[in-house]
Amino acid sequence: MTATEAAPRTSLTVTEASAAVLAELRPMESETISLVQAAGRVLACEVTSPLALPPWDNSSMDGYAVRAADVRGARSDAPVALPVTATIAAGAQPTMPLAPGTAMRIMTGAPVPEGADSVIRVEDTDRGDERVLIIDARDAGRNVRPRGEDLRAGEVAARAGTSLGPAQLGVLASVGAREIVVHRRPRVAVLSTGDEVVDLDAFDEVLAGRRIVSSNSYTLRAAVAEAGAEVVDLGICPDDRDALRTRIEEARDAKCDLVLTSGGVSVGTYDFTREVLRELGARMRFWRVKIRPGGPLGFGLLGGMPWLGLPGNPVSAMVTFELFARPAIRRLRGELLPFPRPFSVVVDDEVSIAAPLTHFFRVTVAPDEGGQLRARLTGPQGSGLLTSMARADALLVVPLEQYGRGPVSPGTVLQALPLGDRPLRAAELAL
Ligand code: AMP
Ligand code: MG
Repeated sequence: MTATEAAPRTSLTVTEASAAVLAELRPMESETISLVQAAGRVLACEVTSPLALPPWDNSSMDGYAVRAADVRGARSDAPVALPVTATIAAGAQPTMPLAPGTAMRIMTGAPVPEGADSVIRVEDTDRGDERVLIIDARDAGRNVRPRGEDLRAGEVAARAGTSLGPAQLGVLASVGAREIVVHRRPRVAVLSTGDEVVDLDAFDEVLAGRRIVSSNSYTLRAAVAEAGAEVVDLGICPDDRDALRTRIEEARDAKCDLVLTSGGVSVGTYDFTREVLRELGARMRFWRVKIRPGGPLGFGLLGGMPWLGLPGNPVSAMVTFELFARPAIRRLRGELLPFPRPFSVVVDDEVSIAAPLTHFFRVTVAPDEGGQLRARLTGPQGSGLLTSMARADALLVVPLEQYGRGPVSPGTVLQALPLGDRPLRAAELAL
């Protein structure tokens, strides 16, 4: 460490630590791509509409364009008869205005002729060809969608920072944005460390009781991809300084935008990750966060490349991914809201915390008969119990201030964080 370089901060709260991570990250540079390839990207420039949408007053019904004044009082026992002077298909342009006392047959989306202020749905007529009988006046003054109702010419159709899902892509297509400026997708390296972990090709070693599967390689690669980044798989590395150095240099030389390591960041004799990063000249920003699971998290910068050292325990790796890596990826992608949105739940089980740390419990969330969301623990909460995570919808947050105040009793309202980008099962059930 040079004299001017600060020692890494330690024992940060979750809020301090996530702010420290985001403070070092900027959105990726922009690139122009075809709209056809833009699903899942994030817009880097706002897009304005060169036209009004809809571009003309159009019908929201299949029926007859009329003047409201001509159909007032129409009933089945006192229908109003109007001559039909034209038929306007969805792709057609009306060639003449609607004369008073007449009707034009019109299809959904077709331009409403000048002079018409209503479309009588076909069900309220006798479907006449040359003359139509209107048998209900309920549509008088209705079913005309005005020009520019959706977007006015010159209005912003999508802002910078918008994540492009189906609806956003549809809007951009509607305004002719054939090519758009988006942020480049970040490249995120994933490296699992540990002498004890192997990939599935060595599963016989696992069955023999000598090794465990590197499940973190699978959870973290999937989480990175789900978060919308490109995965750079650095595989598995033993607890060996030279091997670690080589892999991390690989990530740096491959110009990754973020490197995630799992394991080797705690205080064990073979926990070399931080040491190797320091030797490579990384600026260490913090180590250890007041959370459980996931306390021994590290964060630093190797040249311009941010490094997040996630703990090896499978649940700790996933929880710290949600709390720190996913928001980091969102920021790199150019998204405006990097943090997960907490929501309120009623706790169903008694939960207690045994240390002054913010705790994240794996829970399932479902609404009760009153529609209130209730959270239940998925079972024992050890940081090695990956099935507790696999069953969870959300992380229940017990703030560190709860420490020393006894258990949180059932019925208490707490905040929870949704897991990943998965829609909350509870929200589906509440439909
Ligand atoms: P560490 O953070 O390196 O001390 O690892 C803590 C524990 O997490 C280890 O004892 C392993 O049981 C487990 N672990 C570490 N890396 C992985 C991995 N890649 N996949 C699954 N479990 C892991
Ligand atoms: Mg280890």
